[in-house]
Amino acid sequence: MDFSLLVETFQQMGQTSSRIALTDYLVALFAKTPHDLIDKVTYLIQGKLYPDYEGIELGLADKMVMRAIASSSGKSLTEVERLYQKTGDLGDTAGEAMRSKGQSSLYPEPMTVERVYSTFDKVARTSGAGSQEQKLKLVSSLLNDATSEESRYIIKFVMGQLRLGIADYTVLDALALAFTGDKSNRKVLENAYNVSSDLGTAARLLAANGLESVRSMQVTLFKPLRPMLAERVITAEEALERMEGRAGVEFKLDGERVQIHKGRQGVELFSRRLERITGHYPDLVDSVRMIKSDVILEGEVVAVNAQTGEYLPFQELMHRRRKHGVEEAMENYPVVINLFDILYLDGQSKMHLTYLERRKLLKKVVDSAKNKEKVRLIEQTIAEKPEEIERFMTVAIEEGCEGVMIKQLSSVYRAGAREYAWVKLKREYRSDLADTIDLVIIGALHGRGRRTGKYGALLLAAYDPKSDMFQSATKVGTGFTDEHLEQFYNNLEKHVIPHRHARVETGMEMDVWFEPAVVIEVIASEITLSPSHPAAKNSVREGFGLALRFPKFTGKVRDDKNAEDATASEELVSMYRKQLKVAGKSEDAGN
Ligand code: ATP
Repeated sequence: MDFSLLVETFQQMGQTSSRIALTDYLVALFAKTPHDLIDKVTYLIQGKLYPDYEGIELGLADKMVMRAIASSSGKSLTEVERLYQKTGDLGDTAGEAMRSKGQSSLYPEPMTVERVYSTFDKVARTSGAGSQEQKLKLVSSLLNDATSEESRYIIKFVMGQLRLGIADYTVLDALALAFTGDKSNRKVLENAYNVSSDLGTAARLLAANGLESVRSMQVTLFKPLRPMLAERVITAEEALERMEGRAGVEFKLDGERVQIHKGRQGVELFSRRLERITGHYPDLVDSVRMIKSDVILEGEVVAVNAQTGEYLPFQELMHRRRKHGVEEAMENYPVVINLFDILYLDGQSKMHLTYLERRKLLKKVVDSAKNKEKVRLIEQTIAEKPEEIERFMTVAIEEGCEGVMIKQLSSVYRAGAREYAWVKLKREYRSDLADTIDLVIIGALHGRGRRTGKYGALLLAAYDPKSDMFQSATKVGTGFTDEHLEQFYNNLEKHVIPHRHARVETGMEMDVWFEPAVVIEVIASEITLSPSHPAAKNSVREGFGLALRFPKFTGKVRDDKNAEDATASEELVSMYRKQLKVAGKSEDAGN
């Protein structure tokens, strides 16, 4: 398959500001892709070579890429550096540099997707002494035969900056349309994706063997599943109403969610966004190794005070996110794992079992680890009355929890779903309305005065999964320290795009636009009806969206969340309604 087909599609997608067109371009591309290449093309579209959990990176330093561009374009390194300063992007630099290049290699090898993919694969697998030089040679071998546009995308990919800004959902829609002619089959694909996190394999199965083979994709050891998520409630009564009157109530600890895969080959840990984080917690790996069976477990890893054993807040886990000095951090910031679910045991999925059945199995597994200090079953009780939940909640808060999770006793584990089978009841909901909200940065205004040269305010959006759009909900300018401003300015630079992103909906005019990528946590005093922000528009009142009033950055960048994991527009609606209920107002009273 010609690589140029891919490049043309990427170009078209980069230029459109229509969300529907993005899907259409992908459908057309899939239609032209040979079946045995579907998985590779799917990964390339996602800007990767393999599913994320494989943790495979190309690992090329900027300097090396510049050298590759220089050698293939015939320009000097200084010239390439100058171009880079001008464009601020190595892909664009490659495009520019190669544009003025003369004749390509004397006997160019054809640029096929197969060739590009396998060269990238070699780059990723080359390691050890002298590997940077070898990687450079491999990249140059491609650039030597590539057109300037192809070079642009090759380098963007190599640098991990090929962001087409499309959600996985768009790819799922396009696959369903391309191979079954019916978008509603996306559900089947989505389910397979939820239990395997491997869109490429699902796509290949679909293309080669049809929908039934995708339907039979099962949870597998060492392939992380997308986690089940919780809705919010504000009172214990509401929680019980949602739960058929009786529910499991668990501590909601403030740590990091980890998915543990333990088999004969060893142990792997995955984060909430399914990245491999085994290296952050070698002590946890050792503790769970003692478990007798092959398992997939979920739990919250929490830092504890080395002296008192008390739970510490989430921030303390940051000491573990480093490449060096993990040993030292392990000693000063010990962690414990509080397990709350089991999804797989000795070759079989357990997701179809009820909450109570899974909890029983989980208890056996935890006991088999014989390490009560470090490997614990999360505190739990069964409640039938709101007072019982309230009482348990006070204990939880006293122990340093954010609140409680309330779970339906008869519920199965639904990978990737946010439903009322699990609800969270947090302390903050009860005293005032201000729960934290996670929003995506989609635009910015230039700063003035003390903020000159930085961003003065950021435009934030909620995510609407139904339309797959990021809908603006507020502009935030407070809560930032000088350090934050500096960091945001630098970190957002790579996400700057020349126009509003095709998946962004807003009535606001901005100085700078970003592709939706970075999620931050904000707190606001209130949610109000808004004529200018389209979040959840028409849900409460025709012609109005919802906006946050007096938002403030909490200081937390949610780098454990993808843009699509941001607070959903619908959640704003339910928060808005709850706020009215607490204030004793009717919806018509508006704001
Ligand atoms: P939040 O921003 O409130 O932490 P979230 O959007 O990250 O929420 P939710 O599913 O809404 O994710 O909230 C559940 C999160 O709470 C889980 O991802 C997990 O990290 C954490 N947690 C703590 N204790 C539990 C528990 N007992 N059961 C499930 N999740 C728990």
